Amino acid sequence: MKLQDKVCMVTGSARGIGEGIARRYVAEGARVAIADLKLGAAEETAARLSSMGPGIAIGVGMDVTDEQAVVGGVEAIVQEWGGIDVLVSNAGVQIVHKIEEFPFADWKKMLSIHLDGAFLTSRACIPHMYEKKAGSIIFMGSVHAKEASPLKSAYVTAKHGLLGLARVIAKEGAAHGVRANVICPGFVKTPLVEKQIPEQAKLLGISEQDVVEKVMLRETVDQEFTTIEDVAEVALLFASFSTNALTGQSLIVSHGWYME
Ligand code: NAD
Repeated sequence: MKLQDKVCMVTGSARGIGEGIARRYVAEGARVAIADLKLGAAEETAARLSSMGPGIAIGVGMDVTDEQAVVGGVEAIVQEWGGIDVLVSNAGVQIVHKIEEFPFADWKKMLSIHLDGAFLTSRACIPHMYEKKAGSIIFMGSVHAKEASPLKSAYVTAKHGLLGLARVIAKEGAAHGVRANVICPGFVKTPLVEKQIPEQAKLLGISEQDVVEKVMLRETVDQEFTTIEDVAEVALLFASFSTNALTGQSLIVSHGWYME
């Protein structure tokens, strides 16, 4: 097993992509903290994953934009399991508006969840990783860390920002055995994307089918959605890779939507 007894914190993992990564890690023998907004939902997911084994999971209530909640949550995990080996900063939301109509409050909320969340969780975990002289930090980017789409100014800005943060952590962390990388998925059918389909249809004045076929999947090589399992496989690679040979990188998993 690739993550036997490794301690992993995955934010936003009560459902969606985060849950899939946590599930994959538990299947590889890890001890996984399901850190999500609502403690009840996090605990439900943790109980389900623990019952699958062979690893285990616990639920942690955490708003990644709240400094005290992040510090307290990470300390609780360290108390329970003695350290942190892997951080997946995955929690995220989507809010779409035309730029000229984008409410400032929504802009700040987007940057806070994606960027403050990545910064605060990294800052809280890094001292524990430095202590052990090993660690892997993984940010959930997006094809939108590389490419722009209309209506997504805040999301695209935040996801581009994660590339910079990962590269700085890669440089600072190298001497301490800590790596940082970014996963950049294409569209994955989770509640976050299901919600966007009718919203974009309304804003763009097209049908929901056209949003899927002509907006979301148009540039892919095979008109297919990326799956949660595809993303989890990349998250396992970044978590289990053992040297600084793979750090400061971003890996696009998008059915060829974006190639570089
Ligand atoms: P989702 O809506 O299914 O799940 C997001 C989870 O994050 C939820 O459990 C939610 O409670 C949690 N969350 C939201 N705000 C939080 C906060 N402040 N603190 C803690 N937890 C919080 O979304 P998803 O599609 O699984 O997306 C997960 C990540 O993947 C996001 O960063 C998203 O931008 C990214 N992503 C998604 C897609 C896609 O197509 N679904 C593509 C590329 C990147």
